[in-house]
Amino acid sequence: MSREARHDILFEPVQIGPVTARNRFFQVPHCNGMGHRDPTPLAFMRGVKAEGGWAVVCTEEVEIHPSTEVAPYAEGRLWNDEDIPALARMVEKVHEHGSLAGIELLHNGRVSSNLYSRLTSMTVDHLPTDGYEPVQSRRMALSDIDDLRRRHRAAVRRSLQAGFDLVYVYAGHYLNTIGQFLSPRLNHRTDGYGGDATARARLLREVLEDTLAEVDGKAAVACRIMIDDLSGPGGFGREEIEAVLGLTGELPDLWDFVAGEWENDSVTSRFGEEGGQEIYLRGLKQLTTKPVVGVGRFTSPDLMARMVREGVMDFVGAARPSIADPFLPMKIEEGRYEDIRECIGCNICVSGDHTIVPIRCTQNPSMGEEWRRGWHPETYRRASAPAKVLVVGAGPAGLEAAMSLGKRGYDVVLAEATRSLGGRVEREARLPGLAAWIRVVDYRKGQLDRLSNVEIALESSLTADEILSYDFDHVAIATGCAWRRDGVGRWHPQGVPFGDDVELLTPDDILEGARPAGHEIVLYDDDHYYMGGVLAELLVGEGHAVTLVTPAPRVSEWSVNTMEQHRIQRRLLDLGVAVSTSTTLVSAGAGAATVACTYTDAERELACNAVVLVTARLPEETLFNDLVERSTEWAAAGLSTVEGVGDAHSPGTIAAAVWDGRRYAEELDAENPGDDVPFLREIVRLAPGTSL
Ligand code: ADP
Ligand code: SF4
Repeated sequence: MSREARHDILFEPVQIGPVTARNRFFQVPHCNGMGHRDPTPLAFMRGVKAEGGWAVVCTEEVEIHPSTEVAPYAEGRLWNDEDIPALARMVEKVHEHGSLAGIELLHNGRVSSNLYSRLTSMTVDHLPTDGYEPVQSRRMALSDIDDLRRRHRAAVRRSLQAGFDLVYVYAGHYLNTIGQFLSPRLNHRTDGYGGDATARARLLREVLEDTLAEVDGKAAVACRIMIDDLSGPGGFGREEIEAVLGLTGELPDLWDFVAGEWENDSVTSRFGEEGGQEIYLRGLKQLTTKPVVGVGRFTSPDLMARMVREGVMDFVGAARPSIADPFLPMKIEEGRYEDIRECIGCNICVSGDHTIVPIRCTQNPSMGEEWRRGWHPETYRRASAPAKVLVVGAGPAGLEAAMSLGKRGYDVVLAEATRSLGGRVEREARLPGLAAWIRVVDYRKGQLDRLSNVEIALESSLTADEILSYDFDHVAIATGCAWRRDGVGRWHPQGVPFGDDVELLTPDDILEGARPAGHEIVLYDDDHYYMGGVLAELLVGEGHAVTLVTPAPRVSEWSVNTMEQHRIQRRLLDLGVAVSTSTTLVSAGAGAATVACTYTDAERELACNAVVLVTARLPEETLFNDLVERSTEWAAAGLSTVEGVGDAHSPGTIAAAVWDGRRYAEELDAENPGDDVPFLREIVRLAPGTSL
């Protein structure tokens, strides 16, 4: 299959100042939870993007000095020369595949509490730092501005030493001092750095000029800037960005435009469409002769090509689509559209940064494991010896295991009890806002269709008897899990007492089509990710009166890590869901549920015809246990191993199930590490000559 001619435009080279990008695919800076702590895994991750055809591959934000650090978050560091080798390693991996390496230099301003360095945080004014740290950022004096400029310039010099082709001045997302100076809400200065939009852009202009002088044509200069802070009148909006571009539009070699703060720029598919930033981007490219990068969770080549053709942008910028499919450009280039692994917009990748652990991705289980475990998003280690593998259950874990085993060359049968592939994803994607999640199934289904060594058996609910009568070397049990009906969860390890006369429903019941008979629903969420909030949205939309009760201080508490919590709570309140936080369910009976404040234990009653319990899950491990009990019969059946995979082993996220499917396939013929660490890691080098 060859590429559609209308996509040719995506493969034109583009000049960026003194360097040339080989095509229009641009991996914009993105955090990854590895940063300065895990330089080699990070370098390999970036290298795979270059291998997959991204013409420009950038770092995450890189701190330029210890006075502007965001510990405990693991971002990049270029504090002094000692940090150069780690970044040079990334450059090397990107250059290996003929791509350009970009670095995003950053002075954090009020985002840095400097918890590690204990140095004074500095920004445009005396302001508390972001979050709830008892720390303030100090208003920069003119001498502090001089310090910032000198330190930024030193970081530019070090970036060149590390070999970067493109150096960013970062003014987007309000995550940096330059952006904070641009803000009309934050900047009230009267010293020449405040006033109208062009006065507030003075620091931006100076740092751009410093950077251009320092690179001296040896690298391109890019600027990432917020084009609208989406805060309405009185904020940084269209008139402001037009004024700023009037002043600085021709300074950098490239503009990277972002709309809103990070949670707007990386909105989940539950709350925003692909290409949602187009309305803000349109017309800005016409204000500069320099190439423009835009983002928008682009996975559709038609949309990408249209945006370029219509002059909205010159480069298809991507963080998430490049995480879900590092080979997206190459697949489009080769016309292999059906192989594209589309981002589902879940922001599990973002959660890696927020929880300070290496990045993970629902669609791409190799993300973050490129060096650590030697996994590649496209190529698979051949099986060391032929074997027949039965995978039972075609949810995300079973689908991924069967696909990866198939790609490794094993003979595979994937048996699924129901008529359709997808397990929980097939059902959950029908919930409000989660339609894009079906891509987890679609991609794997498409790949399995083309693997002649994988046979799919639908409507095949298998028993231990049946499995022992077949002739498989290995069996993977990926039978999923079931939501509990007894209230056991984080808050109530002993469960909740329910009367016989109250209707109890679990998410499984609702996903299978059951609905509460009565009107008044108490939805008890002790799970804290998306399920409780989504079911509340569904039920209130169907006309029920819903009270969401949760022991957490906010609804869907964990979704702060996917940058959705504020949107979920707002949506539920807008829809009329009654929200009762810091509240636990004590008991429920005919017509009423008793709930209690988690701090005072004060109890009150809520009208209630049915309780929806979103608490904990139990693995569906009957089949696994049956087989283990009959392990003495395995040899006669030719069976060597039986392993639980995904939710059937330990219930978790869809991302965790997919990852476990890949792990199973990778480890089937691998040497058992025993008690040793089952992956590579980098160990801190001890300072020489230090006596105790
Ligand atoms: P995971 O997230 O771990 O992939 P899911 O719950 O999404 O788990 O998927 C499990 C799948 O296993 C479901 O599609 C279910 O129908 C199927 N399944 C459960 N028990 C059996 C069985 N005994 N034989 C075949 N398929 C099964
Ligand atoms: Fe996309 Fe989700 Fe993967 Fe992030 S984790 S890249 S949002 S599929």
